[in-house]
Amino acid sequence: MIRLYDLSLDDMIALLASWEQPAYRARQLWHWLYSQKVAAIAQMTTLPTELRDRLVAETCLHSLEPIKVLHSSDGLTIKWLLRLTDGQLIETVLMGYADGRRTACISSQAGCAMGCVFCATGQMGFSRHLSVGEIVEQVILVSRWLEELGERLSNVVLMGMGEPLHNYEAVLEVIRRLNQPEGLNIGQRHITLSTVGLVPQIRRFAEENLQVKLAISLHAATDAERSALLPVNRRWPLQELLAACRTYIEKSGRRITFEWALISGENDTAEQAHALGSLLQGLLCHVNLIPLNPTSGYAGAPPDHARVAAFQAILGQYGIGSTVRVRRGIDINAGCGQLKAEALQSGET
Ligand code: SAH
Ligand code: SF4
Repeated sequence: MIRLYDLSLDDMIALLASWEQPAYRARQLWHWLYSQKVAAIAQMTTLPTELRDRLVAETCLHSLEPIKVLHSSDGLTIKWLLRLTDGQLIETVLMGYADGRRTACISSQAGCAMGCVFCATGQMGFSRHLSVGEIVEQVILVSRWLEELGERLSNVVLMGMGEPLHNYEAVLEVIRRLNQPEGLNIGQRHITLSTVGLVPQIRRFAEENLQVKLAISLHAATDAERSALLPVNRRWPLQELLAACRTYIEKSGRRITFEWALISGENDTAEQAHALGSLLQGLLCHVNLIPLNPTSGYAGAPPDHARVAAFQAILGQYGIGSTVRVRRGIDINAGCGQLKAEALQSGET
């Protein structure tokens, strides 16, 4: 079965040409998919009935089935648990901000192969890559939800389940697709890709000449500590990672964000703060400090406010700007992979 959101516009033109349909029909179809975001092929009223019938018979419009929708108590975060056609579960989150930004946090894989010890998705292991369509459809779903409320999706972050640079080709096509003016029209500067630090892919990504924001999950500033939290560090240690980051900054002219999940007694010490300060000094960057979201497979806990403030103050001594990120939607398990973990544990699916 052909999944419509897997197709590029050129693929769509080729498919319809093979059905002896003119190219403008493909453009109409594109419009129904990306501008109208219709819920059913039957709603594509500018297409002739025979063409709609054939699309219904031979293609599939939606491959994500929402099986749970959760709203945070503050109303600013919504989380969907979605079932794919083969039964895999993924998560998509919408985050609203007081300044009007509306951000979709999307998944790039079912599970993840990187095994970071504190991450609920990492604790599940890897199931499979998502297709372009399965990733794009998450954005369509959130965008349609917002449009029904008279709002518009402004940002997309690849920070849901999975390691986006492990699913490189699909993710790159997704970025291009989101960017298309005759589609979702989300500017590259409004897209953030977060990676655990796959060095060859970061270097390759730097060559694509994109304006996408890059976020690096750092979490520790010495190789011993980082390898204990993020097994990938054994393959690409800090100096190699930082060298790739410098290349990305030079090529893109954009600052990098480093993510740091603060874990009490682990990486929230003055010693780690100084090590981080020395590591990043002089680099065009910003640090996001995220108090750990506790998960069932890891014993760590978030530090208290005083320790977070002390950590931040030390970074300031090195001229490094940082922001403490509130844990959004903590009451709905909006942390990466947590809703799926909960559903699996309680046998809901
Ligand atoms: N695989 C990518 C993107 C998805 S994870 C990556 O690792 O960057 C998005 C972010 O959430 C990463 O910075 C990750 O380290 C962080 N994260 C994962 N589990 C977390 C937890 N339990 N508490 C706080 N941050 C967490
Ligand atoms: Fe994968 Fe990112 Fe979780 Fe690490 S933090 S296991 S890379 S999703």
